[in-house]
Amino acid sequence: MKKMGVLTSGGDSPGMNAAVRAVVRKAIYHNIEVYGVYQGYAGLMSGQIKKLELGSVGDIIHRGGTMLYTARCEEFKTNEGQIQGISQLKKFGIEGLVVIGGDGSYRGAKKLTEHGFPCVGVPGTIDNDIPGTDFTIGFDTALNTVIDAVDKIRDTATSHERTYIIEVMGRHAGDLALWSGLAGGAETILIPEADYDMNDVIARLNRGHDRGKKHSIIIVAEGVGSGVDFAKKIKDVTQFETRVSVLGHIQRGGSPTAFDRVLASRLGARAVELLIEGKGGRAVGIENNKLVDHDILEILDRPHTIEQDMYKLSTELSI
Ligand code: ADP
Repeated sequence: MKKMGVLTSGGDSPGMNAAVRAVVRKAIYHNIEVYGVYQGYAGLMSGQIKKLELGSVGDIIHRGGTMLYTARCEEFKTNEGQIQGISQLKKFGIEGLVVIGGDGSYRGAKKLTEHGFPCVGVPGTIDNDIPGTDFTIGFDTALNTVIDAVDKIRDTATSHERTYIIEVMGRHAGDLALWSGLAGGAETILIPEADYDMNDVIARLNRGHDRGKKHSIIIVAEGVGSGVDFAKKIKDVTQFETRVSVLGHIQRGGSPTAFDRVLASRLGARAVELLIEGKGGRAVGIENNKLVDHDILEILDRPHTIEQDMYKLSTELSI
């Protein structure tokens, strides 16, 4: 392999830059030319491709977002779109592609692989919802952003003796809600992977109140429902003063944590190694702190699961 490409796609996540940097530097270390594909699959189709040098990725390891920009591109879901993308790569003589993104981006990489173009997927999303890795790049940073917000909200919740419903990102995955709920000492955590009974939620609030608790924090993953609706339901059956905080896109930004930078560096570099070894069609990950790779054609067929022990613990600690 003489030339490889790298792109970021779908929702951005903190640490994508560190992954791009690792890909570029590791490739150059092995005397491989590396090309940045700008604006995800949209830029791939339109040929937004530029050669990157060692210095192109200087001063980005600590920055959120992605220097390659990202985009969503419906056209790339078509066969013609994918073939057009591959012809753009071939124009530059690029023989392999590292795709950094979430599950949609992986589906694109899977399609390119099916067309015979070697791709390696690197999991970059704050949702932590990619099978075959314990952690995705950006999850830890987003988690710490949520915790910072929860701690601050707790101060005002206590002063005003209020119940706060905090809505966090996660349409299909409850990891961010579960981890932040456990780390933030939430009374209740509502996630898409577990059923809940509103009567239990209310009973727990009442128990806390009877014990003299001054505030309550409920964390809701957006996939379960709107925080505003939950607040209304609680207000309707209790006397508690409730407030809602929808954290929104602040969860996507910010300087990546050391954990995410290290993870991104390791995964990005491993993706380059796989392409050098002629092993396209893989998705890299980390399991039990060991780098692993799985078949990108089948990885998305596996269900995303949450850590059941952690969920159970969160209910036990918030009796
Ligand atoms: P994420 O990668 O964060 O999950 P999206 O789901 O929006 O983000 O996917 C990013 C992009 O990946 C899409 O805009 C599209 O270009 C590409 N993509 C998603 N699904 C497919 C698919 N089934 N086939 C080909 N490309 C896809």
